[in-house]
Amino acid sequence: MASQGDNKWVYSFGGGKTEGRADMKNLLGGKGANLAEMANLGLPVPPGFTITTGVCTYFYANGRKYPDDLRGQIDQALAGLEQAMGAKFGDPVNPLLVSVRSGARASMPGMMDTVLNLGLNDTTVQGLVTRSGDPRFAYDSYRRFIQMYGNVVLDVDHHHFEEILESHKRDKNKHFDTDLTAEDWQAVVADYKAMVERELGHPFPQDVQEQLWGAIGAVFGSWMNARAITYRKLHDIPADWGTAVNVQCMVFGNMGNDCATGVAFTRNPSTGENLFYGEYLVNAQGEDVVAGIRTPQHLTIAGKESNKSDLPAMEEVMPEVFRQLDGVRLTLEKHYRDMQDIEFTVQQGTLYMLQTRTGKRTAAAALKIAVDLCTEGVIDKAEAVKRIDPASLDQLLHPTLDPKADRTVIAKGLPASPGAASGKVVFTADEAESQAALGDAVILCRVETSPEDIHGMHAARGILTTRGGMTSHAAVVARGMGRACVAGAGELRVDYKNKIMSVRDITVREGDTITIDGSTGEVMLGSVPTIQPELSGDFATLMGWADEIRRMGVRANAETPLDARTARKFGAEGIGLSRTEHMFFDPNRILAVREMILAETEEGRRKALDKLEPFQKQDFVELFEIMAGLPVTIRLLDPPLHEFLPNTEAEMEEVARAAGTDPLRVHHRAVQLHEANPMLGHRGCRLGITFPEIYEMQARAIFTAAAEVAQKTGQTVTPEIMIPLIGTKKELDILKAVVDKAAEQVKAATGQDLTYHVGTMIELPRAALRADEIAESAEFFSFGTNDLTQTTFGISRDDAGSFLPDYERAGILEHDPFATLDQDGVGELVRIGVERGRKVRPDLKLGICGEHGGDPASISFCEQVGLDYVSCSPYRVPIARLAAAQAALNADTVKRD
Ligand code: PEP
Ligand code: MG
Repeated sequence: MASQGDNKWVYSFGGGKTEGRADMKNLLGGKGANLAEMANLGLPVPPGFTITTGVCTYFYANGRKYPDDLRGQIDQALAGLEQAMGAKFGDPVNPLLVSVRSGARASMPGMMDTVLNLGLNDTTVQGLVTRSGDPRFAYDSYRRFIQMYGNVVLDVDHHHFEEILESHKRDKNKHFDTDLTAEDWQAVVADYKAMVERELGHPFPQDVQEQLWGAIGAVFGSWMNARAITYRKLHDIPADWGTAVNVQCMVFGNMGNDCATGVAFTRNPSTGENLFYGEYLVNAQGEDVVAGIRTPQHLTIAGKESNKSDLPAMEEVMPEVFRQLDGVRLTLEKHYRDMQDIEFTVQQGTLYMLQTRTGKRTAAAALKIAVDLCTEGVIDKAEAVKRIDPASLDQLLHPTLDPKADRTVIAKGLPASPGAASGKVVFTADEAESQAALGDAVILCRVETSPEDIHGMHAARGILTTRGGMTSHAAVVARGMGRACVAGAGELRVDYKNKIMSVRDITVREGDTITIDGSTGEVMLGSVPTIQPELSGDFATLMGWADEIRRMGVRANAETPLDARTARKFGAEGIGLSRTEHMFFDPNRILAVREMILAETEEGRRKALDKLEPFQKQDFVELFEIMAGLPVTIRLLDPPLHEFLPNTEAEMEEVARAAGTDPLRVHHRAVQLHEANPMLGHRGCRLGITFPEIYEMQARAIFTAAAEVAQKTGQTVTPEIMIPLIGTKKELDILKAVVDKAAEQVKAATGQDLTYHVGTMIELPRAALRADEIAESAEFFSFGTNDLTQTTFGISRDDAGSFLPDYERAGILEHDPFATLDQDGVGELVRIGVERGRKVRPDLKLGICGEHGGDPASISFCEQVGLDYVSCSPYRVPIARLAAAQAALNADTVKRD
C-alpha cells in the first residue's frame, strides 16, 4: 500500500486545470466527478477543487484526524484558485470567496449540503463592497454566510436567525428581504454575530482558514449524523463509501437583475417528455430556489403556459443566456446519454454551471425516457432495460383516482409526484412514523419538508406541502421514494401548534382523512375511490424488451380467479404456486374443512372430503381456463393445522352438527390436534402421509378438471402437482403413488388420456441436501424459500417480526431474510439442491415460489444458480420480468468478462 505521503487527496477542476473525470465518482463523489467532467467538456464551471472520499475514510479510521499532507495539498489548490480568479483568500481588498459542499458517490440528502460565501468577515466584506460597488449585496452575502455557516457548521438553530430577521423587518415595517437596505443588513449582521457569540460562548470565526477547515470538518462530520445514516440504510449505501468535499469559487446570482440562479432537468422528470424543464429566480442565490422561500419562475415559455403562470420565463427575460443554457442541456444529454439534473447561476449576464447529475424521475418518466432514448438511437434496448429500477415499477402498478368518483377538492398544489393516496392527516414526521407503525395510512402535511423529515416521508402514503416548487425537497425526495406528493398548495394554512390545516372556512384536523392526487395536485376531503392502472404504452414496450432479453420464466403465485386474471394481465407465463389451502377459507367450505380435519375416522374424513371435492374441481376448472394452456402448478394441501381449527364454542357446535356428532367430542379432538409449534408440526406432506384420502381427493379433482377443460377447449392441460414439505424420497414416493392412482381412476372414468407432472417443493434443509435422491422421483423442484429460510435459520416465520429489526439494526443481518434471500446460507442450500438434483435428472425443472421470487436481488441470485423460472405474487410479476432481464444481462456481462 502507498504510504500516506504518496496519496493525492485533492483534485482541481476548472480555471484551466482539471484533474478529475466522470468515471472517478468513487474517489471524487458524484458532484466532484461531474464538475470535473463539465470542465473537460469546455462548459463554464467556476474553478474549484475536490477533497477525496479517501480523506473521509482516513478521517474515520484515524479518530477523526486528517492525513498530515492534506493541509499542504489544500493550500496549493487554493493558491491555484487565487491565481485563476486574480483574488486572494482573506484579502481585505480583493477577497476570494468559496462555496463548500458535500458530495458522496450517490446524492445524499441528510448530509451537510452547502455553505456559500465562505471567506467573508468584517474586513473582507469591505473588499466585496468595493469590488461589487454594491454595499447592500455585500452585507446581504455576509449575513447569508453567517446564517448558513452558523446553522450547518456551528449548529446554531435556524429559528434564532429567523427571529432576528423578522424583528428587523417588523421594526422597519418591511415585508420582503428585498426591501431591506445595506444599513439594515449591516444591523442584521451585527445582531447575528452577537447572537452566535451568546449561543456558543465564543465569537463567529473571523479567520478565513478557520472558516474553511470548520466547513470541511462539518461535511465529514455529517457523514455520520443520524439523518445520513437513515438515508444510507434506506438506500443500501455502505458507510465506508465516505463523502468528498467540493470547494469552489463563488459566482453570484444575486448581484442585481442581470443575475439569476436556477435548477433544471434536461427532460420533464414527472412525465419524461423531451422538454427542457426547470425553474429560476432573478437576483437570488441557489438555496432560494430549492428552499421554497420564493416562488420560482419557469425556464421556458411552454413551461410557464402549461402551468398557467403569470411570471415571465427565463426564455423571455434573458433570451441570450437561455439559448446558451439550452445548448448546455443538449451537450450534457449527448455526453451522459441520460436525463440530467443541473444547477446554474448567471452572474451579470454570464452563465456558470454548478452541477450536473443523473436526474431523479418518476417511474413513468423513467420508462418514457428509456424508451425515447432507445428510439432516438442514443441507447440500445439492453441499456434501456438496465436503466429502470424494477422496484420502481410499483409506482405504476398502483391505483389512480376513479374519475367517476365524487370528490371535494379543497385546494390545489403542484403535481409533484404521481399516484393517489388517502390517509389520516399528520403534521410531523415522527407522528407519521408512529401512526404508520400502528398500521394507519397517513398523509404527512408540512409547510415544507427538510432532510430531517425523511423517516416520516418514508412512512407516509403521501406528502402534502403548502410551500415550494417542483424541485423543492418534498418533491424531489417523494419522487425518488415513489410516494404521492402535492407540493406548494399555497391556499392551505398549516397551523402546527393547533394541529389543524385550513382553507377558506374548511378546517382539517390531525387524524381526519384526506386524499391527495400527486398527478393533478388536487387535495380532497375524505377517502376517494381508486381504479387500477393501464399497462400499455411505454410500459408495454419496455416489458416487451425485457421479455426478449430474459432467460428465466416468470410465473405467479395465485389461487383465486381474480389473482390468476391479474397475473395474466401483468404477463405471468403460468402459475408457479397455487396454495390449495387458501381455497378452503371460503365461508361455504370452511365448515367441511373443519369437519375433515376433526374427523376421528377415515370414513368421517371421506364424508367431509366428498363435500369438498366439487368445490375443488370447480376451482381447478377456473384456473385451467384462465391460464389457457399455460403451466399450472398446484400444491396439495399444506395447512398449518392451527389456521383451520375452530376457535369458539359456537364454531365447535356448528362442526359437530355438520358431522352428526357430539360437540364435546369435537372439543376433545380439537384439544388433541393442538400443536406447540404448528409451523413444524403436522402440515405439508405429513398430513398426506397420515390421511392419504385428502391428497387422493385433491388429485382426483385436479385430473377431472383437467379432463373437462381439455375436452371443452381442445387445449392440452398439463397439471403440475406439487407435494409440499418433503424431507425424504420415501415420503414423495408414497404420495406420488396416491396421485398416480387417482390419475388412473380418472383416465378410466373419462376415457381421456392425461399428461401431468409430479414434483416437490424444496423447503427443508434435508430436502436440499438429499436432492439427488429426491430427483429420482420428482420431475420438478420448486424452492419454497419461505420455509427454507425459516428452517435454515431456525427462525419462526410468524414470530420473526418482533426481533428481526434488532438484528438489522445491530448489523447482524443486512436485510430481512424473509424478504431478500440470504444468499450465503439459504442460498447455499438452494445451490446444493440445484446441483444435486440436476446431476441425477439433467432436465429437472427448477423454480422458486417463496416471497423471494419477486425480489430483484434474489431474482439475480436465481439467474446465477440457473433456475428455470421465478414465481411471485401477481403485482410483482412486472417487477420480476424486468429483474430477470437485468439478471440475464448481468450474467451475460460476467460471461463475456
Ligand atoms: C415457501 O415455504 O416458500 C412457500 C412458498 O410455501 P408457503 O409460504 O405456503 O409455506
Ligand atoms: Mg412452505
